[in-house]
Amino acid sequence: MCGLCLPHCPTYKLYNRESESPRGRIALMRAMATGELALTAQLKNHLDHCLVCRACEDACPAGVPYGELIDAARTIMNEELTSQQQLTPPETMLNNLSRLERWRPLLSLYQRSGLQKAARALRLPQMSGLQRQEHLMPKLPLRRKWHEHYPVTGKQRGRVGLFTGCTGKILDEEALAAAIRMLTHLGYGVVIPANQGCCGILHQHSGYPDEARKLALNNLDSFQLDQLDAIIYIATGCGAQLAEYKNMTGLNQQQQKRAQLFSAMTQEIGLFITTVWPAGIKLSPLNKTVAVHTPCSLQYVLRQQEGSRALLEKIPQLTVATLPDNQHCCGAAGDYMLRHPDIADALIKPKLDSIEQMNPDIITSANIGCALHFRASIKERGLAIEVAHPVTLLARQITARQ
Ligand code: SF4
Ligand code: SF4
Repeated sequence: MCGLCLPHCPTYKLYNRESESPRGRIALMRAMATGELALTAQLKNHLDHCLVCRACEDACPAGVPYGELIDAARTIMNEELTSQQQLTPPETMLNNLSRLERWRPLLSLYQRSGLQKAARALRLPQMSGLQRQEHLMPKLPLRRKWHEHYPVTGKQRGRVGLFTGCTGKILDEEALAAAIRMLTHLGYGVVIPANQGCCGILHQHSGYPDEARKLALNNLDSFQLDQLDAIIYIATGCGAQLAEYKNMTGLNQQQQKRAQLFSAMTQEIGLFITTVWPAGIKLSPLNKTVAVHTPCSLQYVLRQQEGSRALLEKIPQLTVATLPDNQHCCGAAGDYMLRHPDIADALIKPKLDSIEQMNPDIITSANIGCALHFRASIKERGLAIEVAHPVTLLARQITARQ
């Protein structure tokens, strides 16, 4: 009840209201759980507005596990709404994205043939309620073939699994290709198990723990842990969930053991590359300025924010700056930017103002959700600034040397 977390909360900063703060939400959750307060639409809104960025958890001197509390409160809300037959599961970004691979050829054609321009001119995306999704979608190639195994290009040092999740192969393919290029170049064979799927983070934070558990078990079974040195991820949002499989409830003893090993083996691509970087590798210089965005998952859950910066500092002549206001969530937060577009836009606005002042050539983000939100918002503001994953920049400089 000390309130020290309040200045760290992005929604409190925006609304300046106790009910939109961590302390206020904890009080609301407690009142709901004890039956003191009924689950009204207003109460639901206050809990829904939380981004689960977990900045409050990081700031709390008493170690209050806010992330666990909000997940549990949302599960209670879902159970209550299901019993009242009022629960319509939200059309999350994930639900839409799981169908994307099937629609890729049509979407690619739509983007490349001029149909997109025509549809936008006729305001069809707005009329169909899909404007936000359409706006966030990156340019998709017609097709891309991924292999299950990529051998090293030189001397073998090890073998790693690459986590692509449910959307990496379609929304983050440039970073994925760059990760494969870098890892194989550094002597690590790359395995991409075909059966892997969604990490389950959106289900976990939306109050669907059973679904999240099913997805986790699928990933635990998909990777041959005894044949790998590490499991690498390129999206820190997914990585945060993979690192927490070890704390998942409802697993039997054997599954728990495997979850602990799995979580211990997961590593963020930036940190992994920095750790295994051999002496003597030269990169082409890049005479540009990059501003580094640090996703909340990286700073408040994984607590490994140094990876991206250390990676970029390897590129000669690249000026690496930190994006001001990095401590506050950009508003992407998984599918939050689709469910609460107004709040997401308000949260990214001060960052866009800083970007406009700094005028960097590139912004990097190690999380695909944040990168999509930045890319769409920067474009909307009319700024010509590239948004890329740090590993993409690194891999480009290796390619340039060859
Ligand atoms: S998780 Fe983030 S948005 Fe939610 S209460 Fe904590 S600081 Fe605020
Ligand atoms: S969550 Fe922690 S920092 Fe926030 S009010 Fe409670 S004790 Fe204080």
